[in-house]
Amino acid sequence: MTDRLPGFNTLAVHAGAAPDAATGARATPIYQTTSFVFDDVDHAASLFGLQAFGNIYSRIGNPTCAVLEERVAALEGGTAALAVASGHAAEFLVFHTLLQPGDEFVAARKLYGGSINQFNHAYKNFGWNVVWADSDDPSSFEAAITPKTKAIFVESIANPGGVIVDLQAISAIAKKHRIPLIVDNTMATPYLIRPFEHGADIIVHSATKFLGGHGNSIGGLIVDGGSFSFAGDDRYPMLSKPRPEYGGMVLGETFGNFGFAIACRVLGLRDLGPALSPFNAFMLLTGIETLPLRMQRHSDNALAVAEHLSNHSKVSWVSYPGLRNDRYHNLAKQYCPKGAGAVFTFGLKGGYEAGVKLVSNLKLFSHLANIGDTRSLIIHPASTTHRQLTDEQKVQAGAGPEVVRLSIGIEDTEDLIDDLNQALDAA
Ligand code: PLP
Repeated sequence: MTDRLPGFNTLAVHAGAAPDAATGARATPIYQTTSFVFDDVDHAASLFGLQAFGNIYSRIGNPTCAVLEERVAALEGGTAALAVASGHAAEFLVFHTLLQPGDEFVAARKLYGGSINQFNHAYKNFGWNVVWADSDDPSSFEAAITPKTKAIFVESIANPGGVIVDLQAISAIAKKHRIPLIVDNTMATPYLIRPFEHGADIIVHSATKFLGGHGNSIGGLIVDGGSFSFAGDDRYPMLSKPRPEYGGMVLGETFGNFGFAIACRVLGLRDLGPALSPFNAFMLLTGIETLPLRMQRHSDNALAVAEHLSNHSKVSWVSYPGLRNDRYHNLAKQYCPKGAGAVFTFGLKGGYEAGVKLVSNLKLFSHLANIGDTRSLIIHPASTTHRQLTDEQKVQAGAGPEVVRLSIGIEDTEDLIDDLNQALDAA
């Protein structure tokens, strides 16, 4: 053994996992249990008091989920991670840990439509106020900051695709104002972009997408970059004030550079409850083993399909940063030189009607509301995922009436192009 640090491919297969101590099982066992027996009363007391790490109850931690947490923390280069029931649950617990009623956060306007809804509507019930900034103009993030701003939120590659955010420019603003930068890295995954290397403080994932990769399990992850110092900062009382339920412990002090992940677990997950099932953690772990292989093929296939569509007579535009003439191509070269991901949008000359016809005519592509599957997927956002937004919000979110979103899978490129050709001919 040398002291060489394992590479990304090795971490994707091994990080966090060892042969099972009790049985020698090589694949991570599914600890399908609600609860764990204590050694004795003192052991139980130390676990409940956060004086010792260990298993209590699967809502706040489970050994199968722990392997997933360690693996994603390693792939992202973070200090610790927390697995939760969905991507939305991950976002929710992050904001629950950072925000108090009346607080604000600044978010990029180009985001997954569900996150726009979550921020605009659900969060209002908690008194958390989103202020929108222009994803393409880092200075608009700075202009939106007020004394109440507690976080900045962006997607590294924005859903519904085609937008790459200048993470370093936005992180410089976050650092200047001492505000943590949260990056949703769902679309890129750490194979394409590692946001901590560009100044992010916290990463969230919908593991439902490329991490799991097979369209079979909903899950989410929060990763702590360990870079933001919450201790002693009155703006973040969950981390900087004594917690009555833990004997006056100050989480940001006791747990240092992984205090944020601990607070999300022992305050957010414990009290709000969106736990990931160990079975889903197992499915997500199995998917992650092939993440580097899949992401490269997803990206290569997507570039070939985008190039084909950009020359098609029924297509008015294609927005894929991998294309040389795309407005985000330079950012793609800077942030994701291996590829620009699987998801992108294009516009149909025939508008809304043509979009509806196209999704009905395809045979190999599946018409559904997900991305990041081995299978190729298609959706017409204006009639589905972004339906609840106003017309203006749809256009702002990159989901106007003529827009079609593709999530390119890992099938043979020629078969995907053939299917698109026949469906466009008939549209
Ligand atoms: N973030 C992004 C970028 C997404 O695409 C999604 C889902 O589509 C989510 C978050 C929400 O994740 P989940 O569906 O796992 O709750």
